[in-house]
Amino acid sequence: MKIMGKQVLGRVSMRIPLILCFLFVTAIPLMIQARVLAIYNRKAMTSQAINDAQNRCTILANELAQAEFFTGLQNTSRITSLKTEIETTADVLGGRIVLVDANYKIMEDTFGLSGGKTIVVREVLKAFDGTPVTHIDDDNGFYYVVYPVMSRENALADGTGGNGSGAAKGNGDDPAGGKTADGVMILIVSTESIGLVRGKISGSTGLLQLLLMLAFFFVDVLLASLLLRPFRRLQDQLDTAADGNLSQEIDEDTYAETSDISDTVSRTINQLKAIDESRQEFVSNVSHELKTPITSIRVLADSLMTMENPPVELYQEFMEDISQEIDRESQIIEDLLTLVRMDRSNPDMNMRSVSINAMIEEILKRLRPLAKAKNIELAYESIREVKADIDEVKLSLAIMNLVENAIKYNREEGWVHVTLDADHRYFYVRVIDNGIGIPKEYQDHVFERFYRVDKARSRESGGTGLGLAITKNIVVLHRGAIRLQSEEGKGTTFTVRIPLNYIP
Ligand code: ADP
Repeated sequence: MKIMGKQVLGRVSMRIPLILCFLFVTAIPLMIQARVLAIYNRKAMTSQAINDAQNRCTILANELAQAEFFTGLQNTSRITSLKTEIETTADVLGGRIVLVDANYKIMEDTFGLSGGKTIVVREVLKAFDGTPVTHIDDDNGFYYVVYPVMSRENALADGTGGNGSGAAKGNGDDPAGGKTADGVMILIVSTESIGLVRGKISGSTGLLQLLLMLAFFFVDVLLASLLLRPFRRLQDQLDTAADGNLSQEIDEDTYAETSDISDTVSRTINQLKAIDESRQEFVSNVSHELKTPITSIRVLADSLMTMENPPVELYQEFMEDISQEIDRESQIIEDLLTLVRMDRSNPDMNMRSVSINAMIEEILKRLRPLAKAKNIELAYESIREVKADIDEVKLSLAIMNLVENAIKYNREEGWVHVTLDADHRYFYVRVIDNGIGIPKEYQDHVFERFYRVDKARSRESGGTGLGLAITKNIVVLHRGAIRLQSEEGKGTTFTVRIPLNYIP
């Protein structure tokens, strides 16, 4: 699924999510702000419109009260001019004005639709009690103000000094039958005009918002490029290294992340360099080691060929030397093959439960003639019986190399002791000798391939310089460890520790 997803999406540049993140954090607050502003604007404009309407109502109501519109005669010139003013006001506001008298009869309607009809609704009743009512009907797009028209006496009794808000209690000798107001003025205005203004404002703020968004987008793209610049520099360095220039410094440390990546890659490159160097060294060592016996053979053969009638004894002696050199060559090749086989990523391990005591006894039995020839005492001490899961052929070879070395690099009438011990997890084989020892400065190197402390002595005793490298490999393959303690001129102890149960 993951692979499929990757295939579908392809490789996305990190710049895209970065830009999206930036846009997200810049655009969202901008949109929220615009929305809040729009709501605030709408409320402010509506309340301003209503305030305006109420003010006009107050003025008109005062004039109506003064002209005794609801209580006096209708055909005076003052009333006529008032009606014109009412119509003008309704036109200016883009609404409709309806006047209702104390009998709830519509006396005047600027739309001329409901004249003479009766209107008894809650808002009108409330206004007759002296309380103006205001209502906004957003769904249907209009608002209305129902306003009481009060005569001066009623207003004084109400305590407002004229037409105005505030409830007034009706008094007993009220000519309007308990009502505070003489009449009521209803102003109904469509909110369409407010909507239009709002539309214009939101149109221009929308444009501003779009421009801001575009500006943000460009800034975001720029920022993303700047932030990714160290990664691009790191990529350039890595590309150069990948092209084979391993001496290229990988050191982009602008961010902690690029610094960590640089460190890890540098370490990997250094390891690769070390592997490469050791491989080159190994190849040159192998060539040199393989060439040495061949050169000797050539020298021996050439000198025989250039001699005229050499004696048979000389032939025999030279042929023996040639045979020894061939043995040596095949020994090097055999050791090399052993190493190569174990160097494979998955070497064959033929694990089975083996008696370690019996295995060591068998090794010592085979090496006793060599020890005897060199007048060296070979002793074995087993603390306990040990059985362990091992590859017997390989581990025999490893222990044999150690005991053979202990005999080879020994002194006249020296000794070699082999001990075997175990605890609940490991068994320990120690090969101790009182031979020539290994100087401190060489001790770390003796496990390297072809490394020999004394080349002449090693060669003389048929060494290839690969024995300890093979031994170490075998021990590691058994998940074990090998340790060396030595003092020049006093002797050497190799300790091998192997787990009793093999952990694959
Ligand atoms: P070689 O084939 O030369 O013996 P090894 O890898 O077995 O190669 O040993 C590497 C070198 O370590 C030897 O050449 C020798 O100088 C030194 N060495 C190994 N074992 C001993 C030992 N028991 N005492 C002294 N020197 C040793």
